[in-house]
Amino acid sequence: SQTLAERDPELFATIVEEEKRQEIGIELIASENITSKAVLEAQGSVLTNKYAEGYPNRRYYGGCEAVDVTEQLAIDRAKQLFNCEFVNVQPHSGAQANGAVMLALLQPGDTILGMSLDAGGHLTHGAKPAQSGKWFNAVQYQVHPETLLIDYDAIEAQALECKPKMIIAGGSAIPRVIDFKRFREIADKVGAYLFVDMAHIAGLVATGAHPSPLPYAHVVTTTTHKTLRGPRGGMILSNDLELGKKINSAVFPGYQGGPLMHVIAGKAVAFGEALKPEFKVYIDQVVANAKVLAEVMIERGCDIVTGGTDNHLMLVDLRPKGIKGNMADKALERAGITCNKNGIPFDTEKPMITSGIRIGTPAATSRGFGIEEFRKVGHLISDVIDGLVAMPEGNPEVEARVLAEVNALCKKFPLYR
Ligand code: PLP
Repeated sequence: SQTLAERDPELFATIVEEEKRQEIGIELIASENITSKAVLEAQGSVLTNKYAEGYPNRRYYGGCEAVDVTEQLAIDRAKQLFNCEFVNVQPHSGAQANGAVMLALLQPGDTILGMSLDAGGHLTHGAKPAQSGKWFNAVQYQVHPETLLIDYDAIEAQALECKPKMIIAGGSAIPRVIDFKRFREIADKVGAYLFVDMAHIAGLVATGAHPSPLPYAHVVTTTTHKTLRGPRGGMILSNDLELGKKINSAVFPGYQGGPLMHVIAGKAVAFGEALKPEFKVYIDQVVANAKVLAEVMIERGCDIVTGGTDNHLMLVDLRPKGIKGNMADKALERAGITCNKNGIPFDTEKPMITSGIRIGTPAATSRGFGIEEFRKVGHLISDVIDGLVAMPEGNPEVEARVLAEVNALCKKFPLYR
C-alpha cells in the first residue's frame, strides 16, 4: 500500500523532474502532445496486469470479460471517429503498426515505394537502417526540388518504372495537405496497395481539418499520441474487411504477443474525447496557431519550407540566418523551448547537424495557448536564433531573458488545470 514516492523515491524523483520540465517549458516537438488526466488514469490502471492474447470474444486466456468490453469500446469509437469498417487497436506503437501492415501484405524482397526520410517520410517507410529498408526492395521518392511539395507526377513516373507492390503516403515532416485521391490513382495504375501512414495528422483527419485517407487507401495506420492526443501507441484502419482479417493475424500472432490493455483503455478514452465537439475547437486552434507561428518566423527572417503550413507543423529553414539546426535546438532548450533539429529537403548537412528545426503546435495548444501566445512564442524563438548569429555557442543574456519569459507564460497555462 506504499505510494510510489515511498516505495521508490529514486524513480519517483525522475517523474517529478519530468513533470516539472513539462510544466515550466514550452513543448514544440510536433509529434508530442499532453493527454488528459483521464487518459493517464486509464494507463495507470490494473488493466496492465491482464494478458489478453487474441481479440474480443476470441481470447487465449480466461478472465477477459471486462477487457473485451474495453477493447470493443476502443474499436467502436475509432470506427466512428474515422468513419471506417475495420480497426485494430493493438499495435504497441506506430512503427509496429507499420511493420504489421507490411507483414500482412508483402513478402520479403517485394518492392515498396515510400517517401524518403530527408523529404519528410518516416524510417518505417523504407529507410535503409530500418526493417522496411532491409527486408524489402525499398525505393524512395523525394519532394519537388523547387517547390519542396509532394511531386505526384514524379511519383507516378517512379511507380511506373519500379512497379511497387505497395506505395506509402504520409510522413513525419510534411507541412501541406496530402492528395490521397491522386496517390490512389497512381497505385491503381501500377496495381499497388496504397498504404497511408496518417500518424501526424490523425487528429486533423478526425475533425475534418485534413481530408481523410480512408476513402482511398487500402490500409491506414496512425499513432495515437500525436495530434490525436491519446496514449503512446498505434492503430490500423481500413474499409476492406477481408484485408482486415489479414491485418488482425499479422498484428497477433504475427508481430506481437499480448496487447497492452491499459494502453488500449487509454486509446478508448482519447477516442471518446476526440468525438466531442471540443476536440474540433482544439484542432482548429492547433492549425490557426501554426499559421501565426509560421508568419512570425517569416517576418523575423527565417524561411519556412514550402512557405507556410496547412497543418500543425512547419520546418524552419535556418540558412538565411547562417545557423545550424543542432545549434538552434540546443539554444532553444536552454531557453525553455523544446523542439527538434530536422533536415530540410535536400539538406547538405549531416543528420546530427541539419539546416533546420521542426516545430509544431499540438502540445502547447493543449495547455491553452492561443494566437496571442503563439505570436509571442514566434518572437521568443526568433530572439534566441538571432542571439546565435553573433554568438554561435549561445547568447547567455538572451537565453536567460527568454527562459524567464517562457516560465512566466507557462505559469499562466498549467499543464493540468
Ligand atoms: N509514422 C510516422 C509518420 C511517425 O511520425 C512516427 C513517429 O514519429 C511513427 C510512424 C512511429 O511511431 P512510434 O514512435 O509510435 O513507433
